Amino acid sequence: RAKVEGRGTYRFFEAEMDARLQARRALELDLRAAIENDELELFYQPFVDTVRRVVSGFEALLRWRHPERGLVSPGEFIPVAEESGLMARMGLWVLETACRQAVNWPADLKISVNLSPVQFRSRTLAADVRDVLNKTGLDPRRLQLEVTESLLLQETEIVLRTLKALRDLGIAISMDDFGTGYSSLGYLSRFPFDKIKIDQSFVRSIEARENLAIIRAVIGLSRAMDIAVIAEGVETLEQCHRLQDEGCSEMQGYYFSRPEPEEELARLIIDVGLRLSAERSILPISA
Ligand code: C2E
Ligand code: MG
Ligand code: MG
Ligand code: MG
Repeated sequence: RAKVEGRGTYRFFEAEMDARLQARRALELDLRAAIENDELELFYQPFVDTVRRVVSGFEALLRWRHPERGLVSPGEFIPVAEESGLMARMGLWVLETACRQAVNWPADLKISVNLSPVQFRSRTLAADVRDVLNKTGLDPRRLQLEVTESLLLQETEIVLRTLKALRDLGIAISMDDFGTGYSSLGYLSRFPFDKIKIDQSFVRSIEARENLAIIRAVIGLSRAMDIAVIAEGVETLEQCHRLQDEGCSEMQGYYFSRPEPEEELARLIIDVGLRLSAERSILPISA
């Protein structure tokens, strides 16, 4: 199409592509150095049990403190890491760092770590995870690994085998961003997930009839299949109440806390816990 629109447009198009490629390559080079230069860090966002009114654990979220650009979000650099072969190493760094830190937290707190689909290309993933558990001494029952539906798109033998091997270690497997991928329901029958994370897009406009219907269906499904369920992206008390009315008591989102650096967690556990017990309108659900 560029050619039809004339030579000028084509040149412009070419220059733009060029600039974009160069920016990508620069980012990739910086990212390679980032691992060596200790520029990666983990932030943690609590998830809460609104019935027990406590923080029940934290999700580790990767951050890159770029020397010139400041904090870069994972949405920007994780795709680059995945395409340039850096994700396997970065993913293991995340896992090991999160486990090493979580060992020092109160023992009833869980730690949830995101896994990229490309990490499953390594035949040693389950063994690597086991090594991290041994090395850090974290009780596997405290570890949750989050995967997205895209992992199961090809549903290869090796992916299913690795998921089973991870589960055999005593780790829980969560399906992240549930409802945003393709034909999610089938996957639930082919692999025994421990937890479903309802995607934030449904929670954001829970007042819309369609979204509420989807949330209701996912909660019903999870009950029938005996899978735990958590709602992501809870930003308001209103959303919190609606979710409770639907029978979903585990939640995560800015309403409770943003992701914070490790040093903040002790304070955060107390603050969020206090707010949960002070908030009279967060009512326990009668079983
Ligand atoms: P995710 O795993 O679904 O994580 C939730 C994202 O939603 C996080 O963004 C979190 O900061 C954000 N969030 C939490 N509560 C709210 C809320 O109430 N409102 C809104 N608007 N957003 C909320 P973040 O940290 O930018 O991470 C984005 C994605 O990057 C993650 O989505 C995950 O897919 C990926 N990611 C982050 N860290 C890692 C990692 O260590 N490994 C891998 N493979 N992926 C990661
Ligand atoms: Mg996640
Ligand atoms: Mg998510
Ligand atoms: Mg996401």
